[in-house]
Amino acid sequence: MSNALIESEEHRALRAAVAALGARYGRSYMETVVREGKHTDELWAEAGKLGYLGVNLPEEYGGGGGGIAELSIVLEELGAAGCPLLLMVVSPAICGTVIARFGTEDQKRTWLPGLADGSRKMAFGITEPDAGSNSHRITTTARRDGDDWLLTGRKVFISGVDIADATMIVGRTEDSRTGKLKPCLFIVPREAPGFGYRQIPMEVSAPEKQFELTIDEVRLPADALVGDEDAGLLQLFAGLNPERIMTAAFGLGMARYALTTAVDYATTRQVWKTPIGAHQAIAHPLAQSHIELELARLMMQKAAFLYDAGDDMGAGEAANMAKYAAGEATVKAVDQAVHTLGGNGLATEYGLASLITGARVARIAPVSREMILNFVSHTTLGLPKSY
Ligand SMILES: Cc1cc2nc3c(=O)[nH]c(=O)nc-3n(C[C@H](O)[C@H](O)[C@H](O)COP(=O)(O)OP(=O)(O)OC[C@H]3O[C@@H](n4cnc5c(N)ncnc54)[C@H](O)[C@@H]3O)c2cc1C
Repeated sequence: MSNALIESEEHRALRAAVAALGARYGRSYMETVVREGKHTDELWAEAGKLGYLGVNLPEEYGGGGGGIAELSIVLEELGAAGCPLLLMVVSPAICGTVIARFGTEDQKRTWLPGLADGSRKMAFGITEPDAGSNSHRITTTARRDGDDWLLTGRKVFISGVDIADATMIVGRTEDSRTGKLKPCLFIVPREAPGFGYRQIPMEVSAPEKQFELTIDEVRLPADALVGDEDAGLLQLFAGLNPERIMTAAFGLGMARYALTTAVDYATTRQVWKTPIGAHQAIAHPLAQSHIELELARLMMQKAAFLYDAGDDMGAGEAANMAKYAAGEATVKAVDQAVHTLGGNGLATEYGLASLITGARVARIAPVSREMILNFVSHTTLGLPKSY
């Protein structure tokens, strides 16, 4: 019988080791970094050196030879310690995976060792102002100019562009036979002439910032294109499914941190005869959240297992469901944690209120709750479409 849903000895050891690293940094490190407008350089570098950032990447390119199952454990445990690394969702999970699966030998040698040891980072840009959730409408377009590509378009909400050496941009090329636009992936260096990025003011308390990109006739060499020009959506989803699984891990870690803080508080805070945690109105919602987080993690593990086993179609459905379940459980857990602390839930000292907006990210990005419900309605249940 397969024991895919029961964590192996190695996975448990990885969890414990990453949790120990996270404990050395913790929430106070994150809060200091955010307050001082810095980045998580120390933690990122140490996690890279220990092999955690590249745990999913092939060994021959400096990775750990594991998969998204292992990478999601790393992100979840750092989050549970209060110091999640959001760029793990894009740099090793999307960009690293897509390059490892579809890149040329040269692209693999150029990028994977650096993404694995953390010395290089890559952001990922698909969202556009006029397309939003409807990524079929993206208009960022690459056209050939001799051997080069000229890329033009706009992107919004792209995380970490300022600290990434390059951004993997989802654009389109024109099919010479049909004239139709096909999705394609390009690696665009941050300093490429014509590539502009402007920070979007956001109410999310995190060291990773979001940017609007203006891509104005950016000239790229032929080998900036990752993968086959004709493989289109298949290659794209090879990166988007890990992104969904990793967003689930990001949410679960944050929610576990919030729940632990709330449980500690409810165990000691006493305003009547017993600690507040003895009141079922406080205890039951926390217990409910714990159950919901465990259930969401099971779905995340299923999605990671299917993805790592090469079942892209099966992983797609499970990754959507895991992202949905984790996003909803995270929003609820953080809300309940804040409430459990009463006024202290909103006090800076306890560090929970700043998670309220962070938790919402897991509900809206990279694909919103509604678009997942649409996917399940149409693809799983076969219901008709309204759009
Ligand atoms: C903190 C943060 C970081 C991000 N990082 C990145 C990144 O690194 N790279 C990147 O490419 N993007 C990134 N994003 C963008 C994110 O993926 C998008 O915000 C998300 O996909 C939703 O797109 P939108 O904001 O344009 O919303 P819209 O598409 O305008 O949707 C607005 C609302 O309408 C609902 N809606 C839309 N269509 C339908 C429909 N057919 N049926 C029902 N409801 C519908 C949506 O669910 C949503 O609630 C980030 C966003 C945030 C907040």
